[in-house]
Amino acid sequence: MSLNWKKLKFKYILSCILLTFIITCLISIAPINVDDCKCKLIDPNLEDKLDNGVTDFLKSVKIPDHKLAILVPFRDRFEELLLFVPHMQNFLSKQNINYHIFILNQVDRYRFNRASLINVGFHKVKDNYDYIAMHDVDLLPMNDELLYSFPKDGPYHLSSPELHPRYHYPTFVGGILLIKTEHFQQVNGMSNKYWGWGLEDDEFYVRLKEAGLSIKRPNNISTGIHNTFKHNHDRHHRKRDTIKCFNQREVTRKRDRQTGLNNVSYRIVDIIEMKIAETPITVLNIFLMCDKSSTPWCECEKLDGIQEGKT
Ligand code: UDP
Ligand code: MN
Repeated sequence: MSLNWKKLKFKYILSCILLTFIITCLISIAPINVDDCKCKLIDPNLEDKLDNGVTDFLKSVKIPDHKLAILVPFRDRFEELLLFVPHMQNFLSKQNINYHIFILNQVDRYRFNRASLINVGFHKVKDNYDYIAMHDVDLLPMNDELLYSFPKDGPYHLSSPELHPRYHYPTFVGGILLIKTEHFQQVNGMSNKYWGWGLEDDEFYVRLKEAGLSIKRPNNISTGIHNTFKHNHDRHHRKRDTIKCFNQREVTRKRDRQTGLNNVSYRIVDIIEMKIAETPITVLNIFLMCDKSSTPWCECEKLDGIQEGKT
């Protein structure tokens, strides 16, 4: 009897220990139910913010459908370039744009030719990019409402006359213009006759009009001519080359049907991959050729220089 009692007592203690062990195990593996948390959120909008954070994150990982080549006609504007590249990187990172900056550096000694440089840049990028931005190096977008997205319906003139700090005539298409590669190709690019400052963009406007392409511009922008763009251009320090020689004035007033993308004459001397403040850019050193029988004004001042004994 006493032996049985002892056995029973032992079994009872053993089952108690086992039961305690099982309960402890169950508690430790049970999931903690956060839904029932009755605690107050420190920030009442935190849930919305978390949702937005997830959306932003998804936006940032979504690869954009189109690739943008930013083509920057360039000569001797290093200070402006150092401001331009980090600004664009910061500005475009907010828009999820898949872009790359190409600096079209004119290395010959002819007068500056913005349009021919853009034609050369276009040849370089056309097979790998869906649209280009013809972009002045000294014009920085300041309002996040300015969008650099794919201009599927027609050329998109970002620096419109209502927003550009300096040019306000209705047919102005200079400064910053986005255009898809098919459309640039369709109008045979830009004229190669414009050596020196000005009018190449006005001639390009006529090309777009004649091709029946409608030019779109930003609307309902909350800023105006003084605060939509920053124009890093001191006109005394960076003088515009407005000289006209030979019959330049007369020829460049007309629509050019002879020259463009198909006959721009050049040599790419170097291609330099580099970084400015962590942003990769490509510098194309471009040597433009000038056909003196067609555009002798590519060297207006050369004779004067020799006569005055300049070196
Ligand atoms: N540019 C350049 N070097 C020059 C002249 C012009 O790099 O010697 C380029 C630069 O990108 C500049 C653009 O061409 O922003 C337009 O020239 P500019 O600023 O003189 O024209 P604006 O629109 O101010 O009259
Ligand atoms: Mn300028």
